[in-house]
Amino acid sequence: MGIRVGIDLGTTFSAVAKIDPRTGTPVIIKNNEDSPTTPSVLCFEADGTVLYGQEAKDMQLTGDTNTASFFKRSMGRADFAAPIRGRTYDATELSSILLKKLVAEAEGQCGEKIDAAVITVPAYFTSLEREATIEAGRRAGLEVIAIINEPTAAALAYGLHKSGAEQTVMIYDLGGGTFDVTLARITDQKITILGSDGDHELGGKDWDDCIARYLAGQFYEQFGEDPAEDMAAVNSLLVTAENVKKQLSSRERVDVPVSYRGNRAMITVTEEIFEEITEFLMGNTREVAERLLQSVELGWNNIDGVILVGGSTRMKMIHKFVRQMCGKDPLTGVNVDEAVALGAAIRANMDLEEEPRPMGFLSAKKREMPAIRGAKKVTDATAHALGMIAISKDGERYENGIIIPKNSPIPAANTRAFQMRVRDKKSELEVYVLQGHHQRPLDNTVTNKYVITKIQKVGSGKSIIDVTYAYNTNGVIEVSAVQKETGKQLPIRVEPVPEDMSWTDRSPKENSQGAAPQVEVILAMDMSGSMSGTPLKMAKEAAVEKFVRAMDAEVVRVGLVIFAEKTVCELRPTDDYRKVISTIEKLTIGRTYGYGTSAQPFTEARAAFSGDADMRYIVVLTDGCWSHADRAISEAKTCHQQGIEVMALGFGDADHNFLKKIASTEKFASLTDLSGLGGSFSKIAQVIGDAGITPL
Ligand code: AMP
Repeated sequence: MGIRVGIDLGTTFSAVAKIDPRTGTPVIIKNNEDSPTTPSVLCFEADGTVLYGQEAKDMQLTGDTNTASFFKRSMGRADFAAPIRGRTYDATELSSILLKKLVAEAEGQCGEKIDAAVITVPAYFTSLEREATIEAGRRAGLEVIAIINEPTAAALAYGLHKSGAEQTVMIYDLGGGTFDVTLARITDQKITILGSDGDHELGGKDWDDCIARYLAGQFYEQFGEDPAEDMAAVNSLLVTAENVKKQLSSRERVDVPVSYRGNRAMITVTEEIFEEITEFLMGNTREVAERLLQSVELGWNNIDGVILVGGSTRMKMIHKFVRQMCGKDPLTGVNVDEAVALGAAIRANMDLEEEPRPMGFLSAKKREMPAIRGAKKVTDATAHALGMIAISKDGERYENGIIIPKNSPIPAANTRAFQMRVRDKKSELEVYVLQGHHQRPLDNTVTNKYVITKIQKVGSGKSIIDVTYAYNTNGVIEVSAVQKETGKQLPIRVEPVPEDMSWTDRSPKENSQGAAPQVEVILAMDMSGSMSGTPLKMAKEAAVEKFVRAMDAEVVRVGLVIFAEKTVCELRPTDDYRKVISTIEKLTIGRTYGYGTSAQPFTEARAAFSGDADMRYIVVLTDGCWSHADRAISEAKTCHQQGIEVMALGFGDADHNFLKKIASTEKFASLTDLSGLGGSFSKIAQVIGDAGITPL
């Protein structure tokens, strides 16, 4: 069994660290060129060889297009594919190739096998980006012990040197392609992360771009030719720009020779010019830092010190910025390039301390190894709120229903109950998980679609599903679900998010997806003389037991219209089923409605609907022929045209042909006998329930 290392898998540079077994101190494993960091660049050669690090970077500088860099920015993105030599690579694949190379070289350098690692990621990496990083580690043959946030790792490394009173520190991490700012409370025993914020698209490369643009602009002013229009010239300008930037970290001015199309210019870049052309970038980092301070209710004056991490913090303007904001110089003792890997190495070996294993090499190793310096308990926080797509209180729009707020300590979990009607055919519940705190769902990262399956139909079919959303210690989202009635854990299928999520920008009322459509049903009962006695008793019983009680009051409103010689709306559609049932039970034949069959229910029923139902049904129950059948058919047709479904249920002397004419489709017309009334009502209830009920 081998050793455990910490790996800083950076956008532009990566580093590997281990624990020195003699001192218990984390140390960087230098690469073959004796450098603590290795460029995160790959180059694929024609014979299948893959170059990496400085060699690959050199190839990139010569203009070789079979190279890949900055792929960390695309981790977890399904739409990223780098085409190289007739193949495409996603960011996970590229990262795993790089990791494998880094690990092999580190093994060669330290003469020990490496089989497990803690890999660092920016604090604001989403769950998908973290999962992709874990996967890259696995594919590189590593056991990924944990994923930790880069600033947290830096705080661990900082803790190596400091002891004493509790300090509130800001970790300002500006790398090649990412910016992270984190607040932490550090004591001798523990590190508590108060919160993080960051910008995925901001890093040293943006400073390079500014210098390159400046050089191109100056060149254009002198010669009227713009090198920015030529890809090869731009690439070479970018390389020059990075060099200029680095020199400006220790010098006040740099004279830069720029040649293009036979012309040569000498352009001076001073510290002041550099600050001026990149002022907006500093403004961006300041905005992110202040947003974070505000979110945890702290001010610059509460900060005891700023730890600088990432190669770009060597720029003088960053030190000036810290002095300006805090009135103090940045904290020292942390090497900006090495801190993250060193902290990760501490974290990778901390478990060995906490969980001594009784058998095997590891425990022997533990006995040999002195206490890990800098090891302390870490409570991390999530940089992203976790939410789900929910319907706003007023039912007007979809919104981000936050379940775990931003900057909560992790691991964190929270449970939400979903009430749903389980149908025989489709017993699944879909939830969309969001990362971010923006109210509009699509302003956040929609991480996954989780389909909760195998929900069982219990009793009436109404069920409560407890869905638990969690961040594990790696900051990866985990969703689990339990059906309350059965107490059983439900299997979950994770599906990619559909490309078209535009329905979340429409009103839930316009969509049937995700929202429970509101259904109204009017039960139209024939109360003519022929119904007296047993037919009425049985009809009432069937209507109550097999129809009303089978409905879901949260989705279906039920109303009641009676017709004989005249038509009376006894009850407008309501979700108060007790009232519906008592109204049905009180029905009697007699003077109120008359004994004849001259009336029809459609005109009254149509007028009784509330107007905001998504689906409307009239269920007619009759036991005979109506004297004005033509008028009834014509009124029924008006209903059909208005999208009102008419279902006709007849028994006794009812005429099937007539029922077919008033029903909106033939299959909605059925003729039965008294004993079959209950069964027929059940079927109708099922059809209405199936059409109208989706997860709540
Ligand atoms: P990292 O991702 O932390 O390795 O940071 C790499 C970034 O740091 C790149 O954009 C480098 O250009 C930048 N960098 C490295 N050294 C210096 C320096 N001396 N001055 C300014 N930026 C630097």
